[in-house]
Amino acid sequence: MVEKIYTIPVNEAYESSCECPLCALHKKAEQDYLDYYLGPSLMEPDTRKITNKTGFCPDHMGKLNLAEQSKLGMGLMMHTHLKDFNEDICADIKAAAPGKASLLKGRSSDYKGKLNAIADRIDKRIASCPICEKIDYTLDRYIEVITYLFTHDSDFREKFGSGKAHCMPHVSRLLRAASKMSQNDAADFVTVLADCNSTAFTTLIDDVEWFTLKFDYRNSDKPWGNSKNAVQRGMRFLSGDRKEFDEK
Ligand SMILES: [Zn+2]
Ligand SMILES: [Zn+2]
Repeated sequence: MVEKIYTIPVNEAYESSCECPLCALHKKAEQDYLDYYLGPSLMEPDTRKITNKTGFCPDHMGKLNLAEQSKLGMGLMMHTHLKDFNEDICADIKAAAPGKASLLKGRSSDYKGKLNAIADRIDKRIASCPICEKIDYTLDRYIEVITYLFTHDSDFREKFGSGKAHCMPHVSRLLRAASKMSQNDAADFVTVLADCNSTAFTTLIDDVEWFTLKFDYRNSDKPWGNSKNAVQRGMRFLSGDRKEFDEK
C-alpha cells in the first residue's frame, strides 16, 4: 500500500496544467523545505547539528539567501559550518602537499592519489545539502506512488497516459523506477511513458522551429501559435524546471 500523503499530491500534479508533473512535485517539495529552513529551525539544536556539518549546496544557499529571512539563523549556521569545514579539511590540505623529490628520497607518485582524495572530500562537502536530500527522498516516495498507481488504479493509468510529458531528467528517473517493476508492468509503463514523451518531443521541435522562422520577415505577420515560449519550454524539457528558464 502507498501512503495518502504522497498519493494526493501525485494525483493533483497529473491533473494540473503543469508541463512536467514531477517538476511540479519537486517545486512544491523544495518550497516546503526552503520554508522549513527559513523558519525557526536553524535555531533548533537538532537541525543545527546537521546543518553545521553539511551547510547547503550552492543552489539552495542562493535560494535561502534571496529569501532574506532568518538572517540570524543563517549567520549562526554559517559560523559553525565554516568552523567545522575548516577543522575537517584545512590541515589535510597542507598535509597533502608532496615533499620535494631529492636525491635521497627520490620521486613518489603517492601524492597524486592524496591530492585527488582531498579534492574529492572538498567536492563532496560542497555538494552536501539537507534540502537536496529531503527533496530526493520525497521524490522517490512520489515515484513509488506513480508506479504503484499505474499498476493498481485504472483512473491514474489513464491520467498518466493522457499526453502529459515529463522533462528528460524525470524520464530518466522514471526509467530507473521502471527497472524495479515486474517485466510485464514495466512493458506497459515504459510504452506509455515513451509515447507521451515522443509526442512532446516532436511538438516541441516544431514549436522551436516556428520560433526561428518567425524571424523571417515573410512570417512576421503570421501568428506565433505556441512558439513564443518554445525555447524556454525546450530548456525546461531538457533540464527540468528552473527559475532561470522562466519566460520574461
Ligand atoms: Zn520534470
Ligand atoms: Zn541543495
